[in-house]
Amino acid sequence: MTVISITRQKQLENVAKFNPDSFCGLYCGACVRYLSTKNERINSLAIDSGLSPEAFQCTGCKTNQVSRRCKSCTIRECAIERGLDSCANCVEYPCTNLRLLHHNNSYCSQFDIIESLNYRKQNGIKSWLMHQRLHWSCPICFAEIGFKDKMCLKCGTVF
Ligand code: SF4
Ligand code: SF4
Ligand SMILES: [Zn+2]
Repeated sequence: MTVISITRQKQLENVAKFNPDSFCGLYCGACVRYLSTKNERINSLAIDSGLSPEAFQCTGCKTNQVSRRCKSCTIRECAIERGLDSCANCVEYPCTNLRLLHHNNSYCSQFDIIESLNYRKQNGIKSWLMHQRLHWSCPICFAEIGFKDKMCLKCGTVF
């Protein structure tokens, strides 16, 4: 019988609860809140942002632990209410609310949610996730990188 240590089991549970997918087309896997929670850098970053670690913590838009910033996101609530996997499947896509997010969201200077949802519509979720994972990766060591990162925190490569 294989014995898994309690620490390893805890690590596996932690990995399992993360989900980089989203409703609005943003790739949660490159969000600073997501990456900080995953890499356990949450405390110092939360303090820098003037938030409690609990408000900052996030394991992705489609999980049970969503940051305060996105918990009450109207796009997220709307897609959940309509029982949709993402806005890409909505008959009203791209609605005014989504277009407003596209123009106003601070992430959107680095990330085009409409382009992302269009890609998802054409190629499906699996391809979208793979495409995003590759795009937001260090070209040298393949570590995950964030929207605003200028350097890989794992190997030090500067982008
Ligand atoms: S804070 Fe928002 S964008 Fe960032 S991972 Fe959480 S749900 Fe996604
Ligand atoms: S109405 Fe807009 S926000 Fe709501 S699911 Fe459709 S596209 Fe998304
Ligand atoms: Zn690297």
